[in-house]
Amino acid sequence: METLGHYIGGARVNDDNRAQPIFNPALGHAVRQVAMASQATVEQAIAAAAAAFPAWRKTPPLKRARVLFKFKELLERNADRIVAAIVEEHGKVWEDAHGELARGIEVVEYACGAPEFLKGEHSRDVGPDIDSWSEFPPLGVVAGITPFNFPSMVPMWMFPMAIACGNTFVLKPSEKDPSASMLMAELLTEAGLPAGVFNVVNGDKEAVDTLLTDPRVQAVSFVGSTPIAEYIYATGTAHGKRVQALGGAKNHAVVMPDADLDNAVNAIMGAAYGSCGERCMAISVVVAVGDAVGDELVARLKPKVEALRIGNGRERGLDMGPLVTGVHRDKVRSYIDLGAEEGAQLVVDGRALKVPGHEKGFFLGGTLFDHVLPSMRVYREEIFGPVLAIVRVRSLEEAIRLIDAHEFGNGTCVFTRDGAVARYFTDTVQVGMVGVNVPLPVPVACQSFGGWKRSLFGDLYAYGPDAVRFYTRRKTMTQRWAVAGIEKAQFAFPSNG
Ligand code: NAD
Repeated sequence: METLGHYIGGARVNDDNRAQPIFNPALGHAVRQVAMASQATVEQAIAAAAAAFPAWRKTPPLKRARVLFKFKELLERNADRIVAAIVEEHGKVWEDAHGELARGIEVVEYACGAPEFLKGEHSRDVGPDIDSWSEFPPLGVVAGITPFNFPSMVPMWMFPMAIACGNTFVLKPSEKDPSASMLMAELLTEAGLPAGVFNVVNGDKEAVDTLLTDPRVQAVSFVGSTPIAEYIYATGTAHGKRVQALGGAKNHAVVMPDADLDNAVNAIMGAAYGSCGERCMAISVVVAVGDAVGDELVARLKPKVEALRIGNGRERGLDMGPLVTGVHRDKVRSYIDLGAEEGAQLVVDGRALKVPGHEKGFFLGGTLFDHVLPSMRVYREEIFGPVLAIVRVRSLEEAIRLIDAHEFGNGTCVFTRDGAVARYFTDTVQVGMVGVNVPLPVPVACQSFGGWKRSLFGDLYAYGPDAVRFYTRRKTMTQRWAVAGIEKAQFAFPSNG
């Protein structure tokens, strides 16, 4: 069986540490193995990135951007290859994989604006013959650690901006679906990126811990589950690194009595069951304001959930593929058992689903619970599967209180035709990304992505303007060139007073 190694210093390399199988979740069997980098291999990648840094830092932003322009072109030309790798290892459906790649490419496009976003800030005549300005030099070697659920997009939330800013990069992608990252590494080399500027180490905790503790790594971007995000933040910052660690979510969609229910139901279907619910922005809770809305939503959602087209993501025109692993499928299934035990009303039960010809695949059908209570674990915990919970409340205020009381604060949205409700909701709710009649308010590349509360540890969001600040360090100069005269000794603190 083929073993996927690492990408270090512009070439694929292997080490003889442990290896682990990669599954095709639609078929339920291993398709290749992935090497688990040893500490020495990760140190070799960090060394390659450190060696490449001085020249890359000195490369004009315009020339860095030209490499990214070329990379974008290569991503588009090789889109089907990358999508095929994502579908094979992750299981999401073909069109959805194309969608995530397209959103990743948008970050590359934004990163091509490096000459603009790195031009700095200038203040002339801040005092007599004194000018002051800020520059934004890169940090050095930076690392990214990414989750399984967006094998191309989430790495591209990080490295295009990091390298555009002049850093060199070591990526540790998810061990469940690393092929997309390896393909992107090769395309970057083909685009003209110098060896060592972008490296991939595959692996697990051993690799991650090396990145978190090695003094040459200046900053770490992480996306994954909340317990690991918290660990990454605590460990990385204790070792003096800048860290942004994005965690888990439980995203609520509030449906008001005046909402256009046809639109809301279609939007909720895609946002709850797209990618099998394995999205950090997936809608996993619908908050129905009033029992009439709740009853109507259940009546409309039930036949649609039962009619979801589920199968091997390689086929076209499907709604949902399998879950990523057998272990994860069993975990999601146990949450369905739990919800029923806790007393939620199981409206659609996906546990019995069979996909003909794919009996060993990690499939689970769409599942819908009604009358879910905030005290239930199926409400409180992130399930990360095709399981939607309906909670009924009496008012918008109660809906907002519910959302604000949840430990996560990644995304939320409201469906309404009332502008004042929309304005009040976006103004009040304690969540990082908010939609109005938009179920997945994933910010575009010129904004930045991040949640509140235990959905993000750190101060800056991913990509967009926040990434420029995250991957650079402000340096501020104050300079005086007096035309004439010798400065007198001045003992009071200098001011313009
Ligand atoms: P995960 O936390 O299990 O893994 C993420 C990364 O951390 C992987 O690269 C993995 O190898 C590494 N890792 C896992 N355990 C580790 C350990 N003990 N020590 C060091 N490193 C470790 O997450 P996942 O299952 O791959 O992804 C799903 C999770 O990611 C969900 O919770 C989802 O909400 C979250 N997610 C969040 C966002 C966001 O933007 N907030 C985006 C996508 C996914």
